[in-house]
Amino acid sequence: MITKDGQNYIMNTYKRYPITLKNGKGCNVYDHEGNEYLDMISGIACCPLGHSNEAIKKAIMESADGFTNISNLFYTEQQVKLAKKLVEVSGMEKCFFGNSGTEANEAALKLAIANTKKHEFIACKNAFHGRTFGSLSATWEKKYRTKFKPLVSKFKFVEYGNTNAIENTISDKTAAVIIEPIQGEAGIIVPPEDYLKEVREICDKKGVLLIIDEVQTGNGRTGTYFEYLSHSIKPDIVTTAKGLANGLPMGVAIAKGIDFEPGDHASTFGGNSFVSSVALTTIETIFKENLMENAKNIGEYIKNEIQMLNKKSIKDIRGKGLMIGIELRKNAKEKVAEFISKKILISVVHEKTIRLLPPLIINKGEVENFISSFNEVVK
Ligand SMILES: *Cc1c(COP(=O)(O)O)cnc(C)c1O
Repeated sequence: MITKDGQNYIMNTYKRYPITLKNGKGCNVYDHEGNEYLDMISGIACCPLGHSNEAIKKAIMESADGFTNISNLFYTEQQVKLAKKLVEVSGMEKCFFGNSGTEANEAALKLAIANTKKHEFIACKNAFHGRTFGSLSATWEKKYRTKFKPLVSKFKFVEYGNTNAIENTISDKTAAVIIEPIQGEAGIIVPPEDYLKEVREICDKKGVLLIIDEVQTGNGRTGTYFEYLSHSIKPDIVTTAKGLANGLPMGVAIAKGIDFEPGDHASTFGGNSFVSSVALTTIETIFKENLMENAKNIGEYIKNEIQMLNKKSIKDIRGKGLMIGIELRKNAKEKVAEFISKKILISVVHEKTIRLLPPLIINKGEVENFISSFNEVVK
């Protein structure tokens, strides 16, 4: 019934799985019949603290008692505290708040243009930066782009992981290089260890801004709050969204050394006090409960356990922290239904790669449950 109504009343932008979910607790979610599923996707990396977390519930209730939005014509304690916290954890200087990943990247692109007066960008092949026109122009995949051309011009695409390609493509018209520290939608592609550091050096040498898109890698997922922090560099702009407010809509671009002027950019909902207080609670809880350490340890545990199953059908296991890709030799899409029948939610990216993005609170027992089902589903 709900599925049928969904098909009737909701636009056809997603291929949805054939279950309808009702509620959740921790790493589990429940359908209308009360069946329990282990959530290994967490809203596509959106819920680092899992579902119906007590601290998040409290933050939501407190906001409901005050106000949810009074616009950006005023400062609010919630937004200011969040901005200060994000500056502290990122080592950057100033925040712009929007409502999604694509908006965070739009802000970053406009900020780069406003400050360099240049209009060319370099992005990577297979990159995903979002689906509004600016971010879509930085996104590689043909099936997302072709129908909507002309896009914003002057994006040049280079091979991911190749620093020479960036150096050779930068011109005196280049405003910025935009990269993901680990490519998510491309199938969890981890670049060579020195890549980010070398890209930073090239951008410095050529006087070009570096935008790092941490919409998926950020918020503790890879074991540090932002992945660039584990490479001892800083971008000029970092963007994040997905896990920032534990599933509520929020995106942010955090910059260093550059700023907007009034009128350059804005967002009515951006940084509203309701979502800001939930985001602040999310960050504080990630630190207080050592969830980044947990992401590192459990991530390694998952990769080792899968490795030990020694399956011929597995081509590669990769990723960092709790952002893991298991590439099969064949198309993995039909595996989703088999996992659902074992009461486990996974997603598949780039046809062949099983992608795991569980809540950062996941424990060993839950992982063991996943591994034993994996062993049965992936022959
Ligand atoms: C998901 C994602 C985006 C887009 O985020 P939305 O909130 O869906 O607009 C941008 N960049 C990366 C790296 C992503 O994974």
